[in-house]
Amino acid sequence: MLEEEDKTDNERKIVFLGDAGVGKTSLISRFVNDSFPNAKPTIGAKPFSRSLQLNQSNKNIQLQIWDVTGQDKFRSLTNMYYRDADGAVLVFDVTRRETFESLKDFWIKELLDKGPENIQIAIIGNKCDITEKEVVTMKETQDFALHNKATYKFVSAKKNLNINDIFQKLG
Ligand code: GDP
Ligand code: MG
Repeated sequence: MLEEEDKTDNERKIVFLGDAGVGKTSLISRFVNDSFPNAKPTIGAKPFSRSLQLNQSNKNIQLQIWDVTGQDKFRSLTNMYYRDADGAVLVFDVTRRETFESLKDFWIKELLDKGPENIQIAIIGNKCDITEKEVVTMKETQDFALHNKATYKFVSAKKNLNINDIFQKLG
């Protein structure tokens, strides 16, 4: 893991957090490899990297993306991944309300308690391709995001919808 002082001006460390099964690994695969593989459950945490040109400034940044497991038994370990992060992507599954509640009850509090003060947060509703099963609305996602000074987006790793936007906003 890179320490703060090793990071250059153009590097950003981003952590993906959220319950198991919401699609964190799938979103990262889509962004890094443009693929939608049959993701296996993540054990521990795994880093990925990709460069990205920012639309607003034309600046090229190097993203170091950490896929952190959502399994309960690892929750106590996850803060070592976000304590020096620049951005956090909090993912829920739009078809499973409990994964949204879990961001509100656990992940956001963790981040605000133990994360860096200026960390940028994105609230991401994944699996927006299954609209008929959508149980969490855009409005409540927006309310939750605004309340925590976060950005928000509904995305789909499967259909490759809106995924670049997540990173553009964090850059
Ligand atoms: P993780 O535990 O958060 O890393 O979740 P995974 O990336 O392993 O995905 C869990 C399951 O959800 C897998 O069966 C994926 O194929 C499925 N999945 C992930 N993203 C999407 C999506 O955008 N749409 C749909 N329909 N399924 C998805
Ligand atoms: Mg995973």
